[in-house]
Amino acid sequence: MSGVLVITEQRQGAWNKMSFEAVAAGLELAKLIGATCSAAVFGSGISTLTTDLAGKRLEKIYSVQHDLLADYTADGSVIALEHAIKQAAPDYVVFPHTYQVRDFAPALATRFGQVLISDVIAIHEGPVFVRQLLQGKLNADYRPTALASSATPCFISVQAGTFSADSVETGQAEIVPVELTLTADQIRNQPGERFRESAQTVDLSAAPLIVSVGRGIKEEENIAIVQELADALGAELAASRPICDNGWLPMERQVGSSGQTVAPKLYLAVGISGAIQHLVGMKGAKTIIAINKDENAPIFEIADYGVVGDLFEVVPALTKAILAAKS
Ligand SMILES: Cc1cc2nc3c(=O)[nH]c(=O)nc-3n(C[C@H](O)[C@H](O)[C@H](O)COP(=O)(O)OP(=O)(O)OC[C@H]3O[C@@H](n4cnc5c(N)ncnc54)[C@H](O)[C@@H]3O)c2cc1C
Repeated sequence: MSGVLVITEQRQGAWNKMSFEAVAAGLELAKLIGATCSAAVFGSGISTLTTDLAGKRLEKIYSVQHDLLADYTADGSVIALEHAIKQAAPDYVVFPHTYQVRDFAPALATRFGQVLISDVIAIHEGPVFVRQLLQGKLNADYRPTALASSATPCFISVQAGTFSADSVETGQAEIVPVELTLTADQIRNQPGERFRESAQTVDLSAAPLIVSVGRGIKEEENIAIVQELADALGAELAASRPICDNGWLPMERQVGSSGQTVAPKLYLAVGISGAIQHLVGMKGAKTIIAINKDENAPIFEIADYGVVGDLFEVVPALTKAILAAKS
């Protein structure tokens, strides 16, 4: 047994972009343990995706292809990936923590007599895997001690936005087909309609610039001040949960653990305190600017730049300065 195997996720030939975050996590783990990192793609009609993944700095790409994997089923995924893991014989199996992974990965880990260490936010020397408990109030370290004496791998999934997909370098990996025996009678589930978190008309996850507003805005009619700043910057407008709960902005604009996960180049947080449920949705932003009148607001702990001041003074002045600079 050796190294790390990342299980990627795709749907109808299109990547789930969290796959590359999992690849970044897998590469980081492989570096920590001084091992190689490979990846697996599974589904039907996945040759283009397999070639795409082979262009990354990975050791091998395990291609798990079968007509019965065209639509997602938990049984099909477990059986297919059991074959792939037995063939690749990794020490660690890394997944993106998607809804699909939550559905099948615990059952897959159980087939190897293991559990899934889910929603990991950091990997340290050891390796030690860090998970959040009690809505992020505590961080817990998990060290899989059984591994040294076990012939089975350790299974982990990584939280969205935690590892940077941009850090994955290009390279040339060897493509290895996985021998797979799978019959229709082994699949007990009927593929149904896929779960969607919300009917998103705005894909904030793809926005390069986001201006996000929180309860500091006080009244619905004041949202216009922040909208003007977003317009001046050419940014999308987003919000913390109370703003969406109040119906001041649609739910699809909510950022956080029960909203969207975003990773823009710039995230400008206006009147947002920085509760953990908000931070998990935006901490992957390249640059974070916070405007808050409370110098002790937790948002300043992760902000690259902070303005301690009244948003009703700072935001209009900023908008004016941006418009002046553009004209
Ligand atoms: C299960 C669960 C899931 C959740 N999911 C999410 C989620 O997905 N997204 C999310 O955002 N939250 C979520 N929450 C809620 C979260 O815990 C916080 O309550 C919320 O993020 C707080 O929003 P806020 O920062 O806008 O408001 P507050 O915490 O009330 O902060 C307002 C901030 O505005 C500042 N302020 C006030 N007036 C001004 C002014 N004039 N100028 C400048 N600054 C000013 C204040 O100093 C304060 O820091 C969730 C909670 C739970 C329990």
